[in-house]
Amino acid sequence: MNEKGKVPFSYEEFYSRHLVMREIGIGGQKKLASSRVAVIGVGGLGTVSSLYLALAGVGYLRLIDGDLVEAKNLHRQILYRPRDLGKPKAEVAAERLSEANPFIQVEPALEKLNSNNAENLLRGVDCVVDGLDNMRSRYIVNRACAKLRIPYVFGAAMGMEGNMSVFAPPETPCLECVLPNINDNILPQCETRGVLSPTPGIIGTMLAMETIKLLLRVGQSLKGKLMICDFNDMYLTIIEINKRENCPACQT
Ligand SMILES: [Zn+2]
Repeated sequence: MNEKGKVPFSYEEFYSRHLVMREIGIGGQKKLASSRVAVIGVGGLGTVSSLYLALAGVGYLRLIDGDLVEAKNLHRQILYRPRDLGKPKAEVAAERLSEANPFIQVEPALEKLNSNNAENLLRGVDCVVDGLDNMRSRYIVNRACAKLRIPYVFGAAMGMEGNMSVFAPPETPCLECVLPNINDNILPQCETRGVLSPTPGIIGTMLAMETIKLLLRVGQSLKGKLMICDFNDMYLTIIEINKRENCPACQT
């Protein structure tokens, strides 16, 4: 921005390669501009998905994260630099995204998600994007999204593996229909399994892609499907998933 708070290019120039796309055009760009998305967790997945959502022109982004930037984050969490150590992730990320696209609004929420604040943090958005690193928090988001009828774009990345789906009950199964009662203590964690830099980059980018498709209502989404990737041998498959009878999260 210059001293008048203006950028040396127009809205039309910034989005010119979107505006010529038949899938987007002026109408689609307006639709993105009027869309509201919450990214829950701005770590490996969330820094990447939120950057593409911002660049694509999603008009309002709410970044929810109570953590501070640490050295162990820097090899994969692309919005942070060594000078950001100790600063709140949501605040730094919001600043970077506002710089990257001056035509959008980014709101940081420096809160740790729990079952008491989840609905308030997620209310009023069109879509919730997963940037979490544990199942306990994902179950909370899943239940809040199911209750508020907000599509939950689910993603996970670890080592060289990743998963993704779009949960939008009652139209589709929810997270607890497919992966119920998973205790984080028995799952590999980033601390022990580790995570290769590009793994959350790939999954985070795909999360942004799915979210934009949902907002624009174009293409085939991962609703009712689970994507399973193993980048070690570039294995990628998509399986059908079903609602679970009496699922406590989506069928009460
Ligand atoms: Zn369910």
